[in-house]
Amino acid sequence: MGNVLANGRVVFRHTMEDWLNLHEVSKSECQQILLLGDADFEYVDLKKPGKLELSTDEIWQLASKVFLASYTIGHEVILSVEENCKVHFFDGKIEKNRSFTVNEGGNGYPYIQCCHRGNIEDLITAQHEFSHAVQIVASQGRFVAPVLRETCAYLGEHSLLKYLNQTNSQWSSVTHAAWKRNSARTHEKFDRILLEALEEPQTPYDYNWNYPLARVLAKEANEHLPEDLLWGLFRGETSLRQLIDKLARN
Ligand SMILES: [Zn+2]
Repeated sequence: MGNVLANGRVVFRHTMEDWLNLHEVSKSECQQILLLGDADFEYVDLKKPGKLELSTDEIWQLASKVFLASYTIGHEVILSVEENCKVHFFDGKIEKNRSFTVNEGGNGYPYIQCCHRGNIEDLITAQHEFSHAVQIVASQGRFVAPVLRETCAYLGEHSLLKYLNQTNSQWSSVTHAAWKRNSARTHEKFDRILLEALEEPQTPYDYNWNYPLARVLAKEANEHLPEDLLWGLFRGETSLRQLIDKLARN
């Protein structure tokens, strides 16, 4: 994993080879997973997303409600994330920051920075980051590989779509459209980056490799795996190898 710079210095940076080893997957398995994603990819019109008249508090509470309705287990974790995580909502129309979640916000709980544009995408973004926080708290320090972290975040997004549909929410169809658009963006932007990197084992690690696999795995897991196995992903009890094997059996 050493990369030699022009001045002859060697810096240690992880590579594609390390990433595959860490996740215990092969190049051909990754290619197969991406192909599976191709099948459900559809072109969506990139119209402007609808407005959303919700406060940031209401958006955060909804993210929690979605989780509570989706899982019969883990409610203590979910409620503790809602109550204790520090969340900074930034105005996505002004600031070009990224949304992210980090393990420690100084109070033993994750810290979240979350984009708030005042449109329907806010629900998806908040649900994604809330899901990262749930995974961090639920896994209690166990190592969770990056593809699985993003798989958990996408699982949360699936829960949001299901919840809005089941509660006949006024936002259901527009959120679904916005989610499809996000999916299409991930597919277009990152699948190619990953496919190219898979051809060159020494390519320096890029976090964006994690999204395309996670997107497909979350969809498959959401459709085929029972609740306890899904929650096991949040708890960091299932490796990517085990997840792929379980999906192959279902
Ligand atoms: Zn994420």
